[in-house]
Amino acid sequence: MRKTKVVCTIGPASADETIIEQMIDSGMNVARLNFSHGDHVSHHRLIERIRKVAALKQQPVAILQDLCGPKIRLGQLPEQGIRLNQGDPVVLCSSDDAANGALPVDYPELYRDVDVGNSIMLADGLMELRVEAIHPPNVQCVVVSGGTAYSRKGVNMPSSELSIPAFTAKDRADLLFGLEQGIDIVALSFVRSAVDLDELRAIIDAAERRPKLVAKIEKPQAVEHIDEILDVVDAVMIARGDLGVEVPLEQVPVLQKQLIQRARLKGKAVITATQMLSSMVSSPRPTRAEANDAANAIFDGTDALMLSDETASGNYPVEATQVLDRIARATEPHLDYALSMNQLADVDPPSVSWAVGHAAVTLAGDLRASAIVAYTQSGFTASCVSQFRPSCPVLALSTDAQRCRQMNLLWGVVPVLIEPCKDTEEMFCRAREEVVKRNLAQSEQRIVVTAGTPLWQPGSTNLLKVIELA
Ligand code: PEP
Repeated sequence: MRKTKVVCTIGPASADETIIEQMIDSGMNVARLNFSHGDHVSHHRLIERIRKVAALKQQPVAILQDLCGPKIRLGQLPEQGIRLNQGDPVVLCSSDDAANGALPVDYPELYRDVDVGNSIMLADGLMELRVEAIHPPNVQCVVVSGGTAYSRKGVNMPSSELSIPAFTAKDRADLLFGLEQGIDIVALSFVRSAVDLDELRAIIDAAERRPKLVAKIEKPQAVEHIDEILDVVDAVMIARGDLGVEVPLEQVPVLQKQLIQRARLKGKAVITATQMLSSMVSSPRPTRAEANDAANAIFDGTDALMLSDETASGNYPVEATQVLDRIARATEPHLDYALSMNQLADVDPPSVSWAVGHAAVTLAGDLRASAIVAYTQSGFTASCVSQFRPSCPVLALSTDAQRCRQMNLLWGVVPVLIEPCKDTEEMFCRAREEVVKRNLAQSEQRIVVTAGTPLWQPGSTNLLKVIELA
């Protein structure tokens, strides 16, 4: 049973029902829809299709809506692009009406937010410009590192404090659409601080079916404010694509380790994303370095690995999913589970839920238990257990189908949709049945059950029980 979760971006290469089906068979746990592309009609079609296939396959596949946030892009350029050579002067215009060879940028505040000497990166950092002078609405630059600029390519300004809000009007409209569709998880791009999430959090909290909230960590300011961001989200995504443009590339490996560690200390899930198996966009096999990168993210403690272009627009979406599945299965037996417990052992002050999750995993380890069964309404009890990375599987029993899908992002958690239990005795019986049904334990083996009483009250994890199977 694989414990690391796999997030796949759905796009033109994987929009077909048969491909979605094969990706679910290959281990896709979460389907990501990137709202930087497509419209509501096309996203609606995809959501319906993913739900239909997931229901047929009886798999709790979660749908993650990725809001594009304040992504700044070049405007319309000639189809063949514009060649920028090192040392050339180039003018960026903060408006679509760029004239005299200036490159349009879809950000009216551009000339206000940059200073002379700042770097401006184009096309995921492939090209670098340096600001030489500002003549509103134009910004005069010199090319530091050249290439060809094409329409709608990304523009990053790592050293500037952008005045644009993190949650834009487009994000608000996209979120309202997503809530109508009942999406399970929502992620916001280019978050800089916890305040950037206030409005989004308020809208989610007022919704009937509340999605889980993910902050994408891709700005240096987000790295700086990671602890306060973690306090208001359910998970973070280490969005290495933009992060590697916004901070020097060589810092990304260490940041990945530090961010995963910070998130785990706060009991929040982590998705490690981007260029995981990039070469599989055009090749059926990954490079050895990519296989190492995926495995190392697992050793770092990530909950989930994410595929982007590989499954959205690549030639081998199913094969890429299978490769991540195989790498995870080959890596997980070599994880140092005891070390992972010790690293998280000094949270101060521990909550009851934290201590019960810790105790459940310790108990399961000491007793060589075959499984931990977590009764959970909100998913909280399951995350308290998953956080400590038990070596045995965690069955998370919930009466809520959306919560089951949301828990499919959590490391080592197998969500199971059940009917409500009337009391704790029925709950223990159900735990036994579900474990046996899945062949997770034989007679005389033990399982550890954890829950919150009164039953189904979110955030009240306070019960532990050991059951020996007859
Ligand atoms: C990233 O930058 O790594 C990322 C996941 O975001 P996007 O794919 O939206 O650019």
